[in-house]
Amino acid sequence: MNHDEHDVDEENDVDEENNENNAKAARNARNLTHPARDAVRRAARAAGKAARTTASTRTGRRTTAVLAAAGIALTATAALSAISESHAEPAATGKTAGASTVTDPSLPPPKVDMAIVRESADGGKNVNLTIDDGPDPRWTPKVLEILEKYHAKAVFCMIGPNAAAHPDLVKKVVAAGHRLCDHSISHDTAMDKKPLAYQRKEILEAKRMLDEASGGAKVWYYRAPGGAFTPQSRQIAASESMRNLGWNVDPDDYRRPGTDTIVRAIKNQLPKGPTILVHDGGGNRAQTVEALEQLLPWLRSQGYGFSFPKA
Ligand SMILES: [Zn+2]
Repeated sequence: MNHDEHDVDEENDVDEENNENNAKAARNARNLTHPARDAVRRAARAAGKAARTTASTRTGRRTTAVLAAAGIALTATAALSAISESHAEPAATGKTAGASTVTDPSLPPPKVDMAIVRESADGGKNVNLTIDDGPDPRWTPKVLEILEKYHAKAVFCMIGPNAAAHPDLVKKVVAAGHRLCDHSISHDTAMDKKPLAYQRKEILEAKRMLDEASGGAKVWYYRAPGGAFTPQSRQIAASESMRNLGWNVDPDDYRRPGTDTIVRAIKNQLPKGPTILVHDGGGNRAQTVEALEQLLPWLRSQGYGFSFPKA
């Protein structure tokens, strides 16, 4: 399945620290046509300026500035969503966005940090394995076997209906000490361009399916298909205590480029960060299984441990 993303580079003319949305609006403005781009840039600049002004007139906390900028920032973000852009989150860059304190008051409040996480819960030399699009009766058991063999833990980002169809596999994953991640109902990589009600349904119904299939095990994360997060979808996930999960290392294993290519891509991309994305669903995953069989002992031999993304 398509996990392509825009790898958006940073170079903001706004104070990114003040507001993630301001920064995002400015970044994405470059990809828009003129009138839209100008409008969004103006709004983003105004938001940044408002934040800085407020901050400079107070010696108090940054939150004040963020709140002051929130109105304008949301306007900028709304303008962006309306105009349409691709995946707003630079999930593959390994950068963690700034403080995500701007919330939509029409949605339930977040219970965990809304920012997209890619770093390990334990510092040190670790990787976070994340395994997407299952569970699948043919491939998930093979992946579980390899993880057990090398004493590795992983996050399984499951598609709701797949979990509902294979509750036995969901329970096995949990019983082996791995973590669950909500990966939506339909794996719609354009869900960031769809109405909010649709996004909410995709996230919450999949969560309910995972809850049922697992017998109530904790669903630690939400990963938007293809990284198609929006500020609102991040808040919906966070309001259900699910941390939004990105990645750093993407070997495109779902395209089946060959086992060696997958292994090489993962090794080459490791300097980007600890969170590795591979797949146990969505098609024939023989190459991925074989790649893991080669990769895990290599990681061990290089002194890597296996951790989870920060929750
Ligand atoms: Zn996926």
